[in-house]
Amino acid sequence: MALFTKPTPAVSPNLPLLPDAAELPPSSWRQALRTAVRDPAELCRLLELPATIVPAARRAAEKFGLFAPRGYIARMRIGDLNDPLLRQILPLADELLDVPGFTEDPVDDGAAQLEPGLLQKYCTRVLLVTTGACAVHCRYCFRRHFPYSEGPKSPDQWQPAIDAIAADATIDEVILSGGDPWTIVDEILEPLVRQLEQIPHLRRLRVHTRLPIMVPERVCDSLLRWFSADGTRLTPICVVHANHVAELGDDVADACNRLRRAGVTLLNQTVLLRGVNDTVEALDELSRRLVEIGVIPYYLHQLDRVAGAAHFEIPEHEGLRLIAALREQLPGYAVPRYVREIPGEKSKSPLYD
Ligand SMILES: *Cc1c(COP(=O)(O)O)cnc(C)c1O
Ligand code: SF4
Repeated sequence: MALFTKPTPAVSPNLPLLPDAAELPPSSWRQALRTAVRDPAELCRLLELPATIVPAARRAAEKFGLFAPRGYIARMRIGDLNDPLLRQILPLADELLDVPGFTEDPVDDGAAQLEPGLLQKYCTRVLLVTTGACAVHCRYCFRRHFPYSEGPKSPDQWQPAIDAIAADATIDEVILSGGDPWTIVDEILEPLVRQLEQIPHLRRLRVHTRLPIMVPERVCDSLLRWFSADGTRLTPICVVHANHVAELGDDVADACNRLRRAGVTLLNQTVLLRGVNDTVEALDELSRRLVEIGVIPYYLHQLDRVAGAAHFEIPEHEGLRLIAALREQLPGYAVPRYVREIPGEKSKSPLYD
């Protein structure tokens, strides 16, 4: 049985990757995902927003459901439709517009698939799409149309991907991605990592996740058992995904601190989003807070041109102006690399002024 299911087929968790809830001890993070808000009317009630926005939100949510943990909603301002956190999760009629240039697979993941669930675009590192489930549905998500249901659905179906990694000695890093890998329970993730550890040429284990931001209690002892300097011979690197300083409260700082004390290198990636973080001030505050809680700003991503997200796009020349201003007021390590993904390139492509 699924620990939680999502209301839309657009992104369906690759269950049964999660064992039956009855077999597992109760855990507050799973509870936080199970009780996440999925109904636009409830979101409006919680935040005292006008009910008039519900019909459009419901229509947009038919394609890609609303999904937001209550702890994240609690960081939003009451009654403010322009709240930068709300904008990331509220389905809007704008998503239904067909905008030229915005497509279902803008980064050509389809062409990068080596085995079911295994993508390689860049040399020396591969990406495992572990699940379609996430802790939140980001309206701008570039994988919102990804065919998760075609990927592996149970741990034994990972074998072809693991064999392919074992057969290629040029690969020294595995990236657990998704969806969000940390929506999967440790009872599944730990054995996967123990298998990866057996591959002698692997050196690093990277996780891309929003859980430490969305549901910070996910950074629990059973996670650190396999994802820490002492818990695995692979060097653990965690790339979180924060877009705004209001996401980084004290509970998030504590989660980052737990990871850091466990010897995990922490990086952040941000997507440049209209109405969320498209000012010098917003990006400056975000970088300062990240550094304060021990997270290095890694990438600022130009929006991938995925169908349904056109209203979030900031033109590149505007992004370049923001980065130039940041460079003048922040230490070099606090200025993220401004990049975009161009299908077929050998790395993310830096944007320069
Ligand atoms: C972005 C991405 C990576 C990671 O790239 P880095 O520049 O190393 O952070 C790896 N594989 C795929 C398929 C990616 O899209
Ligand atoms: S957490 Fe990542 S994969 Fe999931 S919806 Fe957000 S951007 Fe997409």
